[in-house]
Amino acid sequence: MKKRTKKESNKKTIITLVIVLFTLLILIGISSFFVYKEYKNYYKYTFKLTTKEITVKVNENVNPEDYIKEYKNVKIKYINIVTSTIGEKELTYYVIDRFKIGHYYYIKVNVIDDEAPVITAKDKITIYTGSKIDLNSYIKVTDNYDKDVDIKIDGNVDTSKEGTYKVTYTATDKSGNSLSHIITFTVKKKEVYVAPPVENGTQGVTSKGYKIVNKGGATYIGGILIANKTYNLSSTYGSGLTSATNSAFKEMNKAATEAGYPLRIGSGYRSYKTQNTIYNNYVKRDGKTKADTYSARPGHSEHQTGLAIDICNKDKKIPCINSGFNNTDTAKWLSDNAYKYGFILRYPSGKTNETGYKFESWHYRYVGKDIASKLYNNGNWITLESYLGITSKYSE
Ligand SMILES: [Zn+2]
Repeated sequence: MKKRTKKESNKKTIITLVIVLFTLLILIGISSFFVYKEYKNYYKYTFKLTTKEITVKVNENVNPEDYIKEYKNVKIKYINIVTSTIGEKELTYYVIDRFKIGHYYYIKVNVIDDEAPVITAKDKITIYTGSKIDLNSYIKVTDNYDKDVDIKIDGNVDTSKEGTYKVTYTATDKSGNSLSHIITFTVKKKEVYVAPPVENGTQGVTSKGYKIVNKGGATYIGGILIANKTYNLSSTYGSGLTSATNSAFKEMNKAATEAGYPLRIGSGYRSYKTQNTIYNNYVKRDGKTKADTYSARPGHSEHQTGLAIDICNKDKKIPCINSGFNNTDTAKWLSDNAYKYGFILRYPSGKTNETGYKFESWHYRYVGKDIASKLYNNGNWITLESYLGITSKYSE
């Protein structure tokens, strides 16, 4: 065996030391790398947004969190925007990192108004010839944002001529959103009926030989004043119920009350002017053709004679001046007894062809006891038209 020399042994020790040192250095290096990495991770911040620019509607709610893609190691503060006005705004994010250093991020926000104004209007409007109209007054415009909306009107309505006119309204707001609405205007002649004048004089005889005489604004046939669809009164005729009618009603009411049917006058005298208003209101509501079936034209109403009354029971719970009265005991009593006091049931049931009016169980006409007794006909009422041989039809 060879003995090691001192020189050899030193060399070995040095090599070992170098290896140990080297290993240590590597270990220090590796751990420093990890420590550095951790350090970096802890202080490095991330903040990313999903977009640089967004467009929202006026008054739309904007939530800043919706636009953050990712973030790390930061505190985020928002400076939000107001969307109640349109225009370009900046949604601001203030980001504070772990070094307490702040960073700003922005999103450009375009607040726009893309909603059209709303037009409230009818589609069809009927006006009468000669009316003055303001086309602006037929529409109402509102907008979600703008107070002043531009309104353009295309088309015109010539109220001097009958016809159909289309008018287009276009409402445009400040952002250029617009909406159109068409109104069809119908210009027509106002259907005003004017009763023909009643000129004094004899007008001939009826089919049954009764003389037709005009006098004082009324027509007398066989001596009986007639106001129906054929014969009218002048617009100035009449001034109230005649005294004969009044006293006959009082006498009848006394008997009716004793029989258990106290009466009242639901409608008595009506002037030409009043009837004109009533009739034209019905025409406005239902049209002339329909109105003519239930309402007399001015000058043609028997109520203008001062001899006609619509009779009701005093008890306001009992139907009055409508078909609900037909089957009441009061109506029956009147039909059986009115003739005794000079009244006739003027528009009996089933006699529309003669009188021009539907059955009116409440409408009585004073003619005096003689004629009333004849027309009563044991309950099978004869009409004045049939008795005198006359018609009840409007000439136009
Ligand atoms: Zn009546």
